[in-house]
Amino acid sequence: ISSQAHSIILFGPPGAGKGTQAVRISQTTGKPQISTGDMLREAVREGTDLGNEAKGYMNRGLLVPDSIIIGLISERLKRSDASGGVLFDGFPRTIPQAIALDKLLITFGLKINFVFELIVDDEQIISRVVGRYTCKNCDTGYHDQFLKPKIEGVCDNCGKKVFIRRNDDNSQTVRSRLKDYHRKTSPMISYYSNIGILYKINGMLGVDNVTKKFNATKLLQVGLPIT
Ligand code: ADP
Ligand code: ADP
Ligand code: ZN
Repeated sequence: ISSQAHSIILFGPPGAGKGTQAVRISQTTGKPQISTGDMLREAVREGTDLGNEAKGYMNRGLLVPDSIIIGLISERLKRSDASGGVLFDGFPRTIPQAIALDKLLITFGLKINFVFELIVDDEQIISRVVGRYTCKNCDTGYHDQFLKPKIEGVCDNCGKKVFIRRNDDNSQTVRSRLKDYHRKTSPMISYYSNIGILYKINGMLGVDNVTKKFNATKLLQVGLPIT
């Protein structure tokens, strides 16, 4: 009898707070955060073939083709840290990706127990994306208005003073990303609610209150490592 390691999906529009919450959920559950956005940006920085192909889509605010994403995920799940279950952040983002994931789950002995949809309205999305920046050294996320470092210009987490903004975090690109979200990603809502594992989380609340909403689900119980 094989036990299937519990896994979690976090989805929601760009800037909804997936990354911010994923870091916390990863700490409380011990499950590695698998962010396709972070993996793609790393590939772009390193100038790999995959990165060069993905770059054009990302800069225009379009979804990267499913085949590229599915390839990335299958490679990632081979790493040993995935065997106890994982936290998907920003994947799957289309129905074909969700279908491909179902096959991969069987191959890797994983099971999705929770799919969280972070709900944030479009106007708030635009302000979150436009004000977003991260520490260049440790990747901790901040926001011009909503989440400033305790000491201005100094990262809370590592003390360094250099911050970066993403190329695609401008008000024009975010509109195409939102359009793609409503067209291609939101159909996943019924895909997962039909099988009874969709949980809606009000992402309009402050960062700590959103975390409380996650913790109020049975996430932490189910998220415990399987022994
Ligand atoms: P995503 O991973 O969904 O694209 P992020 O976690 O990067 O989103 O959050 C987008 C921006 O909004 C960041 O600048 C972050 O600091 C800020 N943010 C995240 N959660 C909240 C929240 N609940 N309220 C206000 N701002 C938030
Ligand atoms: P956000 O949550 O702010 O939209 P991400 O960091 O998750 O940003 O993704 C950044 C970009 O990377 C997306 O706009 C898209 O071009 C690409 N991307 C990330 N994940 C996927 C995915 N699962 N499918 C297709 N494209 C993706
Ligand atoms: Zn830092």
